[in-house]
Amino acid sequence: MKTAIYPGSFDPVTYGHLDVIKRAAAMFDELTVSVLDNVNKIALFSVTERVNILKEVTKEMPNVKVDSFSGLLIDYAGEKDVHIAIRGLRAVTDFEYELQIAQTNRTLSKGSLDTVFLTTSLEYAYLSSSSVKEIARFHGDVSQCVPDFVAEMIYEKYGHKHR
Ligand code: ADP
Repeated sequence: MKTAIYPGSFDPVTYGHLDVIKRAAAMFDELTVSVLDNVNKIALFSVTERVNILKEVTKEMPNVKVDSFSGLLIDYAGEKDVHIAIRGLRAVTDFEYELQIAQTNRTLSKGSLDTVFLTTSLEYAYLSSSSVKEIARFHGDVSQCVPDFVAEMIYEKYGHKHR
């Protein structure tokens, strides 16, 4: 069975992530989207909230599982016996950072964990979780960036009833 893990913060998931999830799910028998409990990032949503949002948006995708992990991706992937990580690339700025992580993971795992990159669909190239949060924080319209229920959840976090 061909399996892969798509790790990330997903704080929260955007249409850009969803596009990568759909495309990766079509390439593998099973895809696990896994929320990284990242100690270096202050998140808007808890890991449980992010997992629940991901479960909701992927509920029609039978070969997509949602999970979370903390610590090193290579240890998590090793435990699951998965050898491919999926990452998305939007622009050159992503590339430098992602290349370094991919090479580190490949070296640390002694070749056991490879990274497959999917380039973003152009309509989502500008999208990031942080810009969505910034727009929503100041009452902006994020309906083109995230599903409606996610937009509502972000507005609520910032104390807005709705937009
Ligand atoms: P991380 O903190 O791990 O970078 P993110 O949730 O920001 O977590 O992103 C997870 C992955 O999804 C990264 O590989 C990132 O480049 C990719 N990604 C984020 N937004 C988009 C997008 N709009 N289109 C394609 N890939 C994206």
